[in-house]
Amino acid sequence: MVRPNLRNRTLRKVKKKLPGNNVKMHFVERKPQSSRCGSCGRKLSGVPRLKPIALSKLSKTQRRPERPFGGVLCTKCMREYIKFQARSEE
Ligand SMILES: [Zn+2]
Repeated sequence: MVRPNLRNRTLRKVKKKLPGNNVKMHFVERKPQSSRCGSCGRKLSGVPRLKPIALSKLSKTQRRPERPFGGVLCTKCMREYIKFQARSEE
């Protein structure tokens, strides 16, 4: 039987193959939900699925795409917003 504190679904179970053809259960932390676009709610690409502490260890360029509204809006919504701004200036 596993340890009492592991008898819940807090941690993800992963079957790990060990030398000697043994399979053992490893308990791994779950990944957070992927970040989503602030406008349409689609999944953002180029933003890693990591916890804030793990994200802070990455460089800034690895955390989000290097473009206007990178990590906040998806490409489609960003383009629409820039067009909207340019048109409303007139
Ligand atoms: Zn969007």
